[in-house]
Amino acid sequence: MTGSTGGTRTFSVGLTGGIGSGKTTVADMLAARGAAIIDTDQIAHALTAPGGMAINEIRAQFGDAFLTPEGAMDRAKMRAYVFAEPAAKARLEAILHPLIRIETEKAAEAAGGAYVVFAVPLLVESGSWKQRVTRVLVVDCAEETQVRRVMSRSGLPEAQIRAIMAAQASRSDRLAAADDVIDNDGDAMALVPQVDKLHALYTSLAAANG
Ligand code: ADP
Repeated sequence: MTGSTGGTRTFSVGLTGGIGSGKTTVADMLAARGAAIIDTDQIAHALTAPGGMAINEIRAQFGDAFLTPEGAMDRAKMRAYVFAEPAAKARLEAILHPLIRIETEKAAEAAGGAYVVFAVPLLVESGSWKQRVTRVLVVDCAEETQVRRVMSRSGLPEAQIRAIMAAQASRSDRLAAADDVIDNDGDAMALVPQVDKLHALYTSLAAANG
């Protein structure tokens, strides 16, 4: 078995890291080398876009007040609501998580590429994703680096960035869950040899394991 056809693959990588750590940058570099990237955030967005598969159930359980005039989930409103109401958060997750799982599996089966990488921002926080993937790849950098990069990318106030970081797994929890770590405290060039080395490892593991 070559591991190059969908449906029979067993090897996969779960790519994670805190906000601004460099997940997207690393995912793009792996994709350029031939990995198939499945982005769970993109899938969640599609499910809650107008006509998305989660919309009917969100309307049924939360009402039209949580939809935009275009028929998408009103993200800002839902975020504020579930932040204040843990039971509502659980209900929303009960709608979204099974659909995200189904859609990511479908995307993985359909994907070409040397191996599949699931990009999952909250992988360490979610026990089931850790179980699903063969290897956990963490993109790591200092918290001050995260803050600096997110501030210059998005202009979010520092306090808001730190609040998002505080709601995510800690740097040490993430490192404890990692099989592989990319150090992204350096410049972009410093990523190249690290990504090359992991890509070679994953390609050979995928070929050996299917
Ligand atoms: P994430 O997907 O984890 O939130 P990104 O890959 O989007 O992180 O990176 C956050 C920001 O920092 C982006 O604007 C990105 O271009 C920049 N960035 C990432 N890695 C580096 C690096 N090594 N040097 C300089 N800027 C970087």
